[in-house]
Amino acid sequence: MFRFATLIIFLVASVTATFTQAQFDPLGGLRQRLEDQRRRMEQSMREMEERRKDMEASLRGASGTPFGGSAMPADAMPAQAADDSDGLRLTPGEITYSNGESILVRDEEGEEIVCRLHVSIGDTHVVMLPDGRLKSFPIEETRATEKPFVPMDMDSIEAKLLKDPKLAGFKTIRSRRFLYLYNSSELFIRSSRTILESMYPAVRKYFERSGIDVHEPELPLVVIAFATDDQFQEYRRMPKGVVAYYDAETNAAFIYERSDLSDHAPEIAVKNAISTIAHEGAHQILHNIGVQQRLSRWPLWLSEGLAEFYAPTSVQKGIRWSGLGSANQLRMMEISRDWEANQPRGTGKTIQRITSSDELDSLDYAYAWGLIHMLSRRHQKELFACVLDCSRLRPLEGIEQISDQVASPSEVFTKHFGEDYPDIEQEMTKHLMGLNYVDPIKNQTHYLVIYGGTVALTSSPEAVKEMQRRSGGRSQVRTFPNRLMAEKAMAAISR
Ligand SMILES: [Zn+2]
Repeated sequence: MFRFATLIIFLVASVTATFTQAQFDPLGGLRQRLEDQRRRMEQSMREMEERRKDMEASLRGASGTPFGGSAMPADAMPAQAADDSDGLRLTPGEITYSNGESILVRDEEGEEIVCRLHVSIGDTHVVMLPDGRLKSFPIEETRATEKPFVPMDMDSIEAKLLKDPKLAGFKTIRSRRFLYLYNSSELFIRSSRTILESMYPAVRKYFERSGIDVHEPELPLVVIAFATDDQFQEYRRMPKGVVAYYDAETNAAFIYERSDLSDHAPEIAVKNAISTIAHEGAHQILHNIGVQQRLSRWPLWLSEGLAEFYAPTSVQKGIRWSGLGSANQLRMMEISRDWEANQPRGTGKTIQRITSSDELDSLDYAYAWGLIHMLSRRHQKELFACVLDCSRLRPLEGIEQISDQVASPSEVFTKHFGEDYPDIEQEMTKHLMGLNYVDPIKNQTHYLVIYGGTVALTSSPEAVKEMQRRSGGRSQVRTFPNRLMAEKAMAAISR
């Protein structure tokens, strides 16, 4: 039997890595450090992809036969489930889909519990436990039952999660639909709560208009927020560079607050973290209101583009959700940097690449956002038809080597939007150029540090402190709301 959870997690859990651009820092070092950080992230994303390919290769190698435990080296499994008893153990075989039947299984304590059948593959039932987790059981260890499946309420789920030693001491807060377990700051978790709860009705309404039969989530939507990367990693090992993910197996969203950027570009770091929770929250909402079936695989350009479409947040005048379809300034920044380096020519190559790809880098995420934004404004009927089509993808459908052939990501695209890639790309470029864009890097707080005969410009409070320390407290610091004003003042001083 093959420990399959890892592969499933990588295929369906959506992972967001941030690649924030560096800004020039007269002290030097910051840019280099951010560049290094970005390279490390890209490296680990590549490693993750290679591991995924290895796993798929070992699957192919043993097609039709159950796998020996040695089919995959232990160190090729980067994402062990939090609890070893968790996880999906699947042996490839015939897939049968569920009609929502109730199934009796024994839980970790040996108690019989009523679950709901999610999908069956080979000799295995994948069931949804009353707490919303998906778990696999050999069919012979299960029994059909007439008893109804009863999802757990928020109180019981909270009590159950708090028993996890890795979450010991975590605080909880709630909103109507979300349950947050956290040891992050109060500001961070309260901002997340405001954003997700204001986002939810808008996202739901948007998909109601697509013709999908959407419903309220059956279970509380759990968000687990760690204060630091280390704690996030200790809970479940993820490739370096992953800052948050929605896990389709446990149905929870995981995130951490602190990043290396916090000290050097705090406004961008907050914006990034808050947009990330909105992004993962979008995946989570879509998986819980009947839009995307858990363990189904959608084309990445669509699922990631949609999540980015809902992600824009604002940190000016308090942290809040920017509203459906507002310009995603962080993604616009990446696109405009790309346009500065490579004139947009509308060859269609960018659209063709991202709509056919099974892996997206940071710039691809940006263009996936741009594409969805344009389609949502200019081709909404076709976009809704495309989403409706994908909402019919069932569990394990669309996953290579496990299920039957389904339409490739580019086939899904061309079916609804045609094959005139240059035309679509030109339309997207024109559309994006018409959006109101405020460069978030240039519009963060900037400081001038004046000491002796020198003036230094930086956006990093950490750098300011360092310069103050070096000057023995004899420097003067002036604060500006954006880079342009700081530069003007700097020019005036230097004159
Ligand atoms: Zn995502």
